[in-house]
Amino acid sequence: MKLTFILTALLAGSTVMAFAQTKPEETETWEPIPKVVTPGATFKDAPSDAIVLFDGKNLDEWVQNNDGSPAKWDVADGIITVNKKYGNIETKRKFNSYQLHIEWRVPANITGTGQARGNSGIFLASIGKGDAGYELQVLDSYENKTYVNGMAGSLYKQAIPLANPGRKPGEWQTYDVIWNAPVFNEDGSVKTPAHATVFFNGVLVENNFELRGPTLYIGTPSYKTATHGPSPIKLQAHGDKSEPLSYRNIWVREL
Ligand code: MG
Repeated sequence: MKLTFILTALLAGSTVMAFAQTKPEETETWEPIPKVVTPGATFKDAPSDAIVLFDGKNLDEWVQNNDGSPAKWDVADGIITVNKKYGNIETKRKFNSYQLHIEWRVPANITGTGQARGNSGIFLASIGKGDAGYELQVLDSYENKTYVNGMAGSLYKQAIPLANPGRKPGEWQTYDVIWNAPVFNEDGSVKTPAHATVFFNGVLVENNFELRGPTLYIGTPSYKTATHGPSPIKLQAHGDKSEPLSYRNIWVREL
């Protein structure tokens, strides 16, 4: 009697498994429960789980890229201004994949043309000295003609932005980035290429773009010599003669 009941129950169970699900509860997932995050007052403000990389006060989270010494760019009135004589700066912390918010401003009195007008950049992963890494271009792209895979919102020399929502020099602009770091196999070959999604002033300009490798100024990028793990985020001191850019409100959420 008891055995019959169990067998009947098992058969009934397997019938449910074998045929269509019949209850809404069967497709409800209750765990794991996402962690509670308190959002910022606006989408520009750091949520409660963000690592704040610059809040207007100091460069404690940053070092010089060339020698690891304390970052020497200028901080005043709540903003960082590029100091070209010292070169690139990068975060002390290293990151894999993340969500990044950063704001930048080309000075109102900017001079120069093309790539020599308000050029900086955000290396989404810094993988060495100088410009080694994956550059999201920062440039004055308001009525400033240049090659389109080198304008603001481009993944330099790889991805043309889907639109140009650039504001005039003198106005603050935002990048919100989702960076999916590349994954490498034990033998150094690439398992999963890097992908980047970028919103420029709230407008989608890079849609999960698959990078072909770290940025190259000359030649075709590849992952051949690029094996790396967690990496700093780096800001570029570009060598042109135009007036230096400023940055503010920089935060990141690790994914
Ligand atoms: Mg640049």
